[in-house]
Amino acid sequence: MIKVIKLKRVAAVCIAAVLTISCAAAVSSERARTVSGEYIKWVDFTPTTSALRQALEIDIKSHDSDTPVGWIELLAYAACKNGGKFAGGKDKYITQLYERIQNAEDIEVITSDMKYYSYFYEAYSAVLSGYVGYNEDGEYGVLVRSPFAAGYYYSHFDDFGVARSYGYKRKHLGHDMMGSVGTPIMAVEGGRIEALGWNQYGGWRVGIRSDDGRRYYYYAHLRKDKPFAEGLREGDTVKAGQLIGYLGMTGYSSKENVNNINTPHLHFGIQLIFDESQKDGVNQIWIDCYQIINFLEKYRAKV
Ligand SMILES: [Zn+2]
Repeated sequence: MIKVIKLKRVAAVCIAAVLTISCAAAVSSERARTVSGEYIKWVDFTPTTSALRQALEIDIKSHDSDTPVGWIELLAYAACKNGGKFAGGKDKYITQLYERIQNAEDIEVITSDMKYYSYFYEAYSAVLSGYVGYNEDGEYGVLVRSPFAAGYYYSHFDDFGVARSYGYKRKHLGHDMMGSVGTPIMAVEGGRIEALGWNQYGGWRVGIRSDDGRRYYYYAHLRKDKPFAEGLREGDTVKAGQLIGYLGMTGYSSKENVNNINTPHLHFGIQLIFDESQKDGVNQIWIDCYQIINFLEKYRAKV
C-alpha cells in the first residue's frame, strides 16, 4: 500500500515537473529543452483509436491541400482542449482545429496561448512521429504495422498497469496479445535491434529502437527453441512489417529456453526515451498501447 502511494506521489511530481517545463516553453519545446536542459519525465498516452483514426484521416486528406495539418498537431490541440480525455465525444476538437485552419487561421497563433500545447506536441511526437510518411513507392500514408501478421487471431484487453508478481511486485508495463504459439510477430516500426536473447522476465525477447531514438519496442515471451526470425542479430536494422520472431510462452525463469508462462501471448511494450538516462533504471516511461494496437489492426503485414 505504501509503495502504491509512493508511486502515485512520484507520478504527481513528474507530471508537475512536466507541466512546469511546458509552461516555460514559450516558443518551442525543443528550445525549452536546450535552454533549461530539461526533458519530458512522464507521458500518459490517452488518444482513443477513433481519435487517432480521425486525426490521421485529416492529416492524409489535407496533406497535398492548401491547408495541410499534421495528425500530431490535431491530437495535441485536442488534448489541450479536453485535458487528455478523448472519450465521450471529446475528440470533436480534432475537427474543430481542422475547421479553424481551413478558415485561414494560423496554427502558431491558435496554439500560442495554449499552456500545454508544446508538452502534448512533444509527447505525442515521441509516440507517433514514425507512423506516417512516404513509403518506398513515394505514397504518403501509414508506415507502421500490427505486431501480428495478417490472418492470425489474437484477443486482448487493456491490461496496462495491472499487478504482476513474478520476481517482485510491479505493474504491467506493456500490452498482452493472446494467440497461438508460432504466430509470426512483425516489427511495428523499423529501427535497430538493440536487444535480442534471453531475459528472465520476458523470456526470448527482441528490443528495437526507432531510427529517431525516441521509441523502444519490446516483444517478449517468444517461442521456445525457435524464437527469432532466421538470421536476425543484435545491431541489425529491420523494417516495419518485417518478420522478427514467433509467439510463444517463454520467460519467468532465470534458466534459458524455458516455457514458464501459462497462456501463450505476445507481451508488447513501447518505451519513450527523451533522454538516455530514461532507458534503464527507475525513470523509464512505458505507455499504454491498447489504443495503438487497435489502431494498427487495419495495418497487418503479410508473412
Ligand atoms: Zn505482458
